[in-house]
Amino acid sequence: AEAELIRVQRFESLAMLAGGLSHDLRNLLQPLLLAGDSLQDYQDDPRLARLGALVRDCGRRGLEMVQSMLSFARGARRAEQVRAQALIDALALLLQGSVPRSVHLDIEVTDPELSFEGNHTELQQCLLNLCLNAIQAMPDGGILRVVTTKVSLGSDFFLEHEESLAGDYVRLSVSDTGQGMPEEVLKRLFEPFFTTKEGGTGLGLLSCRRIVASHGGVMRLDSIPGEGSCFEIYIPLSRPAADASALMDGDTSLHGNA
Ligand code: ADP
Repeated sequence: AEAELIRVQRFESLAMLAGGLSHDLRNLLQPLLLAGDSLQDYQDDPRLARLGALVRDCGRRGLEMVQSMLSFARGARRAEQVRAQALIDALALLLQGSVPRSVHLDIEVTDPELSFEGNHTELQQCLLNLCLNAIQAMPDGGILRVVTTKVSLGSDFFLEHEESLAGDYVRLSVSDTGQGMPEEVLKRLFEPFFTTKEGGTGLGLLSCRRIVASHGGVMRLDSIPGEGSCFEIYIPLSRPAADASALMDGDTSLHGNA
């Protein structure tokens, strides 16, 4: 289980890196290709035309490499039917050996038949991040609770984010009875590399948010210093046709609500 845990984490980091890098590289290479094309038009200066051809050929090869990197990142994020029960079972298996004896693990799946469109590996990674954070927030022990349930949200929900999120969702929540977070930490939670841990990466929550956003979902959290934290993920059970392709599109946007 330990080795599998490391493998899943490595793979997700790699896919995230490849996805992000290819997007940025593509944006750099496209103007370079255009520049090469324009240089080639200088027919009366053969040196410039040759330079133009060189720039364009290198740029084109670069783009091809980027394209295959993007396909790799996408390969890791295939859309499939995710079963809530299977997700939680896999999580429990991964957590084996990481839950200290002082932490009581409480897992509940209220609707075992529940399934939805998404990516099992990504969501598993996301839940795992949240659970490991929760465990680390309880050095003196406590209760780690993971609950999966189906919820119907009314049109008044999430009004603070200026969009109505009415509809059916699967809610995945991870809560702990740990140290909680002060305002200064809450404010910076999703900043890349923000960590309060020695040896922390500060990428865990960012990666979670990226995964949730690519599922068309949102993340909320509550935290009370000295009492604990609760992270909630809402994934829509049916995605609007317009963004159903986002999952396949290597959408690495970091939007989504905290
Ligand atoms: P890392 O775990 O590597 O620090 P994360 O992005 O996962 O990176 O978390 C960033 C920071 O958020 C953590 O360093 C910690 O201060 C805080 N944090 C995250 N989850 C919890 C939690 N359940 N309880 C208390 N603090 C948390």
